[in-house]
Amino acid sequence: MSKAVKKNNTVKLDFNIEYAPAPESKASAKIQPSYDLFINGKFEKPASKKYFDTINPATEEKLSSIAEANATDVNKAVKAARNAYDNTWSKMPAKERAKYIYRIARMIQERAREFAVIETLDGGKPIRESRDIDIPLVANHFFYYAGWTDKLAYAFPNKKIQSLGVAGQIIPWNFPLLMAAWKIAPALATGNTVVLKPAETTSLTALKLAEIIQESDLPPGVVNIITGAGATGAAIVNHPDINKIAFTGSTDVGKIIQRAVAGTNKKVTLELGGKAANIIFDDAPIDQAVEGVINGIFFNQGHVCCAGSRLFVQESVYDIILKKLKDRLSTLIVGNPMDKNTDIGAINSKQQMDNIHKYLRIGEKEGLEMYQNNCVLPKKGFFIRPTLFTNVAQSSRLAQEEIFGPVLTIQTFRTDDEVIEKANNTPFGLSAGVWTDKGSKIFNLTTKLRAGVIWANTYNKFDPTSPFGGYKESGYGREGGLHGLGAYLK
Ligand code: NAP
Ligand code: MG
Repeated sequence: MSKAVKKNNTVKLDFNIEYAPAPESKASAKIQPSYDLFINGKFEKPASKKYFDTINPATEEKLSSIAEANATDVNKAVKAARNAYDNTWSKMPAKERAKYIYRIARMIQERAREFAVIETLDGGKPIRESRDIDIPLVANHFFYYAGWTDKLAYAFPNKKIQSLGVAGQIIPWNFPLLMAAWKIAPALATGNTVVLKPAETTSLTALKLAEIIQESDLPPGVVNIITGAGATGAAIVNHPDINKIAFTGSTDVGKIIQRAVAGTNKKVTLELGGKAANIIFDDAPIDQAVEGVINGIFFNQGHVCCAGSRLFVQESVYDIILKKLKDRLSTLIVGNPMDKNTDIGAINSKQQMDNIHKYLRIGEKEGLEMYQNNCVLPKKGFFIRPTLFTNVAQSSRLAQEEIFGPVLTIQTFRTDDEVIEKANNTPFGLSAGVWTDKGSKIFNLTTKLRAGVIWANTYNKFDPTSPFGGYKESGYGREGGLHGLGAYLK
């Protein structure tokens, strides 16, 4: 985007030079006009006979019709999962189970490009992210848990390894296939069977995964993928023959689920919202920190539960950090998610875009100072300019509530104790970031910040070996790593 212009022997950076478009081809994406429910190894029509549209949020064009499962379909899927659990999957030697999971991992790798393109078309995230982050992590998750399948006795020494039974799994739209992998891989590795529901706006990659599962010859009923809206999710949560609910989504729905399972024998893990603090000390590597903050909040349009949405900067470096952040913000490319140059793609839905606009208005009303990238937004589709707010009070709604969009609030601090107090002062506790040259400071903060994941001198780095999850209203239980296996065992 920037080009060095040589004039009178001085080199001036001109940030207004544009890249030529570099669109990824849609040719690899085979999207059918409609998709049925994947139950007991087959695609079946929904009992309701109802279908809903899934659109491309960058163009508002319809991509496909998706079946809407009702309680009858949920019951059918749970029966298939129970039957597969009792008669096949729980009886199969672990090393045989592992072979299926490895096979699924390899098939995802082979079709990685198709998955990446569909993820971007259906959800709006930049192709660079779905291609380089989401889909490789999906395959890695299946590989990682395949590796544990026949080694559970080493993971939990001196314990009797016992699976739970049928897991009901409900996932959000921000990392559609990755969340499906986080849920399905550890459940299968530990010998459970699955009924999974993707989010209404992003069902396509989960249904593509169903095609792979069918081709992999996984015994019918081990994984069932049913689509629909909140009511379908609720029917899964309330089904009496489900042993475990694994949910990733909003804190509000998490609370509904918690109430629904109270007094039942269902085991629950909840991965909910967040309001992460990203903290820069004056001894931090400044450019690296600025890039980390940009990645921390603008990655995936800020549709990240662990997004570093609150920046705290030590007073002595505030001016330089703010200047560098503004400079960097103005060079971010917002637009067509299928273009490999795009940094910030489409907001996932109109509803989500309206919600982010609501917070921008609240910020203005509260008298905060707003700074935006002044790019021209595409005429169609759902887009929002990346936005910084300064002059933010700790009590501001923008500093307290999850926005789930490309909006960063900036506050300052003087001492370690002050920033720890401010960072912990939200109802959430999912993640945080610390930027400093001093190991002792990192240790001090990581022990005192109430967050499940804390990154030091980096941000938004994920790995299947590392557990992920929150405190307080960010939920409970951990996914990933050994902890993720424990969540599917008695
Ligand atoms: P959401 O509205 O809670 O939806 C999540 C899933 O639950 C969707 O599949 C949704 O179906 C379904 N659902 C809705 N109402 C339900 C009900 N009453 N019972 C059962 N299921 C129900 O959340 P979202 O807006 O899709 O996702 C954004 C939220 O997820 C953010 O708050 C974000 O922080 C959180 N998140 C957390 C993590 C984490 O690991 N902690 C990771 C990613 C996202 P529909 O699609 O039809 O609404
Ligand atoms: Mg869609």
